[in-house]
Amino acid sequence: MRYSDDIIEDVRFGNDIVDVINSYTSLKQRGNSYVGLCPFHKESTPSFSVSPDKQLYHCFGCGASGTVYNFIMDIENYDFLDALKYLADRINYPLPEHNGTFDSSLADKKQTLYNIHKIVAKKFYENLCGPQGKIANDYLDKRGINKNTRIKFGLGYSLFKKDDIYTFLKQNGYDDDIIVESGLVIKSKNNTFFDRFFGRLMFPIIDVQGRVIGFGGRDLTNNKNTAKYLNSPDTPIFNKSYNLYSINIAKNNKNKELILVEGYMDVIALCQVGINNVVASLGTAFNENHIKLLKKYANKVITLFDSDDAGIKATLRAIPILIENGIYVRVAQVKGAKDPDEFISKFGANSFLQFLNNAKSYISFQIIQKMKDYNLNDPIQKVEFTKEVSKIISHLSSPVERDVFINEASQITSISKDAIYEEVNIILANNSNIPKIINKKPKQNIINNKLDEARQSILYILATNIKLYNILKQYISPNDFLDKTYVELAKIIFMLNDNNKPIYGAELALKFEDIEEQKKISKVFMLKIDFSNSDKLEKIINDQIKIIKKAYFDKLILENDNIENLQQALKDKKIFDKLYINI
Ligand SMILES: [Zn+2]
Repeated sequence: MRYSDDIIEDVRFGNDIVDVINSYTSLKQRGNSYVGLCPFHKESTPSFSVSPDKQLYHCFGCGASGTVYNFIMDIENYDFLDALKYLADRINYPLPEHNGTFDSSLADKKQTLYNIHKIVAKKFYENLCGPQGKIANDYLDKRGINKNTRIKFGLGYSLFKKDDIYTFLKQNGYDDDIIVESGLVIKSKNNTFFDRFFGRLMFPIIDVQGRVIGFGGRDLTNNKNTAKYLNSPDTPIFNKSYNLYSINIAKNNKNKELILVEGYMDVIALCQVGINNVVASLGTAFNENHIKLLKKYANKVITLFDSDDAGIKATLRAIPILIENGIYVRVAQVKGAKDPDEFISKFGANSFLQFLNNAKSYISFQIIQKMKDYNLNDPIQKVEFTKEVSKIISHLSSPVERDVFINEASQITSISKDAIYEEVNIILANNSNIPKIINKKPKQNIINNKLDEARQSILYILATNIKLYNILKQYISPNDFLDKTYVELAKIIFMLNDNNKPIYGAELALKFEDIEEQKKISKVFMLKIDFSNSDKLEKIINDQIKIIKKAYFDKLILENDNIENLQQALKDKKIFDKLYINI
C-alpha cells in the first residue's frame, strides 16, 4: 500500500533534511548548501551536498541523490514504507493504519505492547546478569557464546517462577487485558495468571525498526514434558509468518546476500564469528511472507539447514519459493556436525567460511537429492534418473544456465552430457508451458551520457527559471524527452508553470512511486547551473536542446513506416538543426 501524498508531504516537511543527515555525517554550511563527507562512499574531501531550500541531497563523488526518504532508505536499508514509518516516528506524527483510516486505539495498544516488550526484555537481561541467571550463563558458556554476543542479541533469562513477569507488569501499572494480549502471560480457566516463559534462556525478537516484538525461549530445566523451544504467540505487534529472527542485524549487509538458518543459536553462533547476514524463521516453515521481508534486503540466499531429514525437507521446500521470487539460491549442508553452531565449535570459523563459499547451486542440490532415489548401476533406473535430472534442468529459462548445469549434472552423475542435452530438448519441445524461472536483473545504473546530461539540465532550467521556460516552451515539449520518467517530469513542470504554481524538487520527486525515478528526479534538481553568464548559458541551452531534439527525431525516423511522415520528420530535423534560440 502507499500512503497519500498529503501524508508523505507532512512527514517530509517535519523532517528537515539537514537535521536528519547531520546525525549520520557532520555537515558544514557553505553558501546556500551544506557539505560533508559522503556516507555512501569512502572519501577524504567532502563532495556530499545537502540543499535546505530544495530538501535534497546529492553526492558529486558517487552520484547518490534523493529526498530525505531516499536517504533513510539507503542508509538504513529500509523500503519506502519503513522509511516513512521511521521518519513519522521521529517527529511523533501519527500514521494511519494500513486500511487507510487511523485507528488511534489500535495504535495506542501497539505502542503499549512495544513498551511492555521493551521493559520485559530489559528484565530478562537483568535476570541473566544476576545470581539467578547462573543456569543460563552456564549454558551459554558451554555453547561458547561470549559476553559481547549476549549483549548484541539482548539475551536474557526468565526466572523459574510461575508469575514473575505477570507481577512485574502489574507493578508497572499494566492491566490484565493488555498483559494477556502481550502473549507473555496466560490466563487460565480459573482466572489465575501464569507466565508463558519461565526457566528459559530468552531471545528477544526484534523488528527492522529495532523494536522488541516477541520472544523465543529455550528450556533450561531439561523437563521432558516441556517444549525445548517456545515462541511468543501472534499478537497485534508480532506475527511469526511475517518476521525473521535477527533481520534487524542482517538487513545491513551490503552484498544483498542472506544466509537462512534454522535456529536462534545458529544465527548467534555465526554472528559471533563475524557473519552477520544471517536470519532464521521463527518456529514456522519458510513462506511467501518471509520472502517479502527478505527481498527488501537480499537478492541472493544461501540456505543452511540442519543435515537431518527435516533439514533437507525444509531446504527442498524453500528452494522453489525463493526461485519464483527471483532470488538466486545456493545450498550449504553441514557435514560432520548436526548444525552450523556445532560445526563452528568443532571445526572453527575459518573452515566454516570456506564451507560457505563452496555452497552448491540449488540445481546441484536437487540433483544430488534425486540421486539418492536411484540405483545408477541399474541401466533402467539410470535412464529414469536421467529423465528426472533433465526435468530439473529444463526449468531453467536461459540456455547458458542450462548449459552450465548440464555440465555439472554430467559430472555429478557420470551420465554423458549429450544424453542429458537430448532429454532436456525433448522436454522443452514437448512442453512449452514449463514455468519459467524469472530472472530479475538488478536495475542498471543510469548511463550518464551526453543525452542524459542534456535532458537533466534542460529540465532543471524549465523548472527553475520561468523566463527561460516561456522562451523554450516554443521549441521543446515534454514528449521530446523520450525517457518515461523525464517525459512525466516535464509534463508536471509544464503544467505547474502554466498555472503559475511553485515547483519544489523534493515534492515533485515524491510524486513518483518508483524509488529509482525519485532519485533520478532529485538529481535533476540538484544540478548547478550558472545563470549569470547569459552568452555561455545561451550556447549551452542551444547545444543541449539540439541533442535532445536529435534523439527525438532519430527515434521518430527509425520507427516510422509511413513515407510521408518519414519525410516530414527528416525535414523537421533539418530545420531544427539550423535553428538558433536567442535568450
Ligand atoms: Zn558519495
